[in-house]
Amino acid sequence: MKYGIIGSGPAGFTSAILAAEKGNTVVLFEKDEIGGTCLNKGCIPTKVIMHTAELYRKAKNASEIGLVADNLKIDFNALIKHKENVITLLRNSMTKFLESKNINIVKAYAEITSDNTITANNQEYKCDKIIVATGSIPKCLNGYSFDGEFILNSDDIFKLSKIPENVLIIGAGAEGLEWARIFNDMDCNVTVIEEKNCALPVADNDISKYIENLLKQRGIDLKTSTTVKKLENRQVTLSTGEVLNPDFVLVAIGRLPLKPEKVNGKVIYLGDTNAQLMLANFAIYQARALLSDIKFDSVFVPNVVYGEPEIAWIGANEQDLPVGSYEKSVFPIKALGKAHCENEKNGFIKVLSYQGNIIGAHIVSKEASALIHQFAVAMQNNIKTSELKKICFAHPTYSEGVYESIVKL
Ligand SMILES: Cc1cc2nc3c(=O)[nH]c(=O)nc-3n(C[C@H](O)[C@H](O)[C@H](O)COP(=O)(O)OP(=O)(O)OC[C@H]3O[C@@H](n4cnc5c(N)ncnc54)[C@H](O)[C@@H]3O)c2cc1C
Repeated sequence: MKYGIIGSGPAGFTSAILAAEKGNTVVLFEKDEIGGTCLNKGCIPTKVIMHTAELYRKAKNASEIGLVADNLKIDFNALIKHKENVITLLRNSMTKFLESKNINIVKAYAEITSDNTITANNQEYKCDKIIVATGSIPKCLNGYSFDGEFILNSDDIFKLSKIPENVLIIGAGAEGLEWARIFNDMDCNVTVIEEKNCALPVADNDISKYIENLLKQRGIDLKTSTTVKKLENRQVTLSTGEVLNPDFVLVAIGRLPLKPEKVNGKVIYLGDTNAQLMLANFAIYQARALLSDIKFDSVFVPNVVYGEPEIAWIGANEQDLPVGSYEKSVFPIKALGKAHCENEKNGFIKVLSYQGNIIGAHIVSKEASALIHQFAVAMQNNIKTSELKKICFAHPTYSEGVYESIVKL
């Protein structure tokens, strides 16, 4: 069978590899760089920059733990070069991997021109199956458009030539908070506004409350229930009447699916185009569910917000469960030996369960992005808390917190 796959992000890349491994002929179309948003303008570059920003903040404040760093500074040019090197390295290995599976990579804008035809570079490619994995684009504020100078999106941020001094971020979701913490770590003045009444509105309320406090402690000015009233001449008037003059505004209010205009019923959509969970892991798993024997349940998709401490959750939020329909346990990270060894005492692990079955897990902690998978394994495989607590957790670890959080459930 011949597959035509448009887009080489997590969804397109994974489906191309899996379709080829099954013996199909695959043509993969990419108008930009191999790797999609995730590799080139999303997950990977953000975390590279975040890593340096975090090291800088930690080293700067490490005298308490016996580490004194004088004249510490971020070499922004070197950091950007490092980020580019990481992307290039990963992109090259992805390209080699695609080539090793004999996938025909067409570097061009692709259009679906009939039921079974994709056209790119004025050439027609006949396909038995068409997969659209064209991703998404940043959404702007109603009535405004991105200008690359003052009203910026997540793509524009990677074009900054120096560390800004004053930043206004619109949206306290995952993207907004990740950049808020990065800029704050880099000593910028950061204001975040959020139209809902809490930070991370999609998370469990306890996570939102905890994170709001942490942001305040770090000096990030979070204004909830606040929107932009006017944006003019590099000046922002908020719904509260307050006027701000940031270096720029980063709009982080979500993304819009990018769907080719001409489509038909036979086309399969994967990843961000579906406008469900716009996460790389969700995109990859959709592709795996389509093209391999690995089936998954979209209920068990971990969400992670990176930065220090990390935030991760899976399953139900407490505020969405009927009163009396669950048991709850909350364990503070500061009760762990490891947290004191590493001076990373912020956070908690909260578990919601019903008759020994975990129905939700919510973590704020160093290593939360790793810890959450212990709950994912348990939930996906119906492993009860009575079984989970039999595990001999190594000491000292943050994983001991997993035991402590379920031992009484
Ligand atoms: C700043 C930021 C940070 C993020 N961090 C995380 C994170 O930490 N974890 C996480 O899980 N998710 C994260 N995401 C989300 C993640 O990047 C996306 O969910 C993921 O990339 C979606 O994968 P996809 O394959 O659906 O689309 P994409 O990765 O967007 O790939 C789509 C590809 O299709 C190509 N394309 C589009 N139209 C055409 C066409 N007509 N012809 C040819 N090619 C075309 C595009 O050029 C692009 O390369 C982040 C996103 C952003 C913006």
